[in-house]
Amino acid sequence: MMDEEEVILKKKRRKKRRRRILIRLVTCVILILALIGLITVISLIVYGVSRLVNRFSQGGSQASVVETGDPAPVSDIDIPNVTIDDPVVVSSDSSSSGDQHLTINLQMLTKNPYSRPGKPLNSVNAVVIHYTASPGGTAAQNREYFEDLRIHKTTKASSHFIVGLEGEVVQCIPTREIAYASNQRNDDTVAIECCHKDESGKFNSATLDSMKKLTAWLLVRYGLSANDETIIRHYDVSGKLCPKYFVEHEDEWKKFKDSVADYIEKNKEALKAEDYLIFKQ
Ligand SMILES: [Zn+2]
Repeated sequence: MMDEEEVILKKKRRKKRRRRILIRLVTCVILILALIGLITVISLIVYGVSRLVNRFSQGGSQASVVETGDPAPVSDIDIPNVTIDDPVVVSSDSSSSGDQHLTINLQMLTKNPYSRPGKPLNSVNAVVIHYTASPGGTAAQNREYFEDLRIHKTTKASSHFIVGLEGEVVQCIPTREIAYASNQRNDDTVAIECCHKDESGKFNSATLDSMKKLTAWLLVRYGLSANDETIIRHYDVSGKLCPKYFVEHEDEWKKFKDSVADYIEKNKEALKAEDYLIFKQ
């Protein structure tokens, strides 16, 4: 009898032990699931809060948005090669050196309401010259400034092209789209922003050389001749002191326009050639 009782007792204990183990297992599983749930909820809350904060900070700066319309417009005439929407180009080897070539670095802005609205530029009647008004600033930095406007939203500004201190040319808006550069002439002009070393706004020879070539190329591509109506300053549109040096030195401005006309005269065939522009990305 004693033995039987012991056997029964042992069985009961074993059953109890199994039940305890089972309960612990289930508890563990529930705890793990709860932990996963908790982590998910916390992640969602953090994500939600960060989005909210983001929206608030954007909303705050939006209030200070001002329409300067300073950057230059681009045209949508069908210009082979240059009116590329999303830079898919291509290019070859070489540098911008050589008098009958000009290298264009394609670095299009992201479409956004502050610097690249994506509106079509349906006709081009002039090229507008601007200066960046940021002494020592590079073409890349000015391009970044335009790009960052989509985040900072502090103003509306952009340009089709930016010519740098080394004569490098960055294109950041296709010529078939308008840029925010030249106020009421955004709709029928292409804009070129030009970098300068100091407060005087004077352009160095490398910058001037690329400005001349780019302006010449644009005029030829749009079938325009070089004159006072087709090569203009931002100043001629709105009276703004831009480009400063060319507003304060009419003789230098005239010299620049003459250099464009002269360059077209001497390089007409080269300017029409498919390979005049060399594209880089
Ligand atoms: Zn300007």
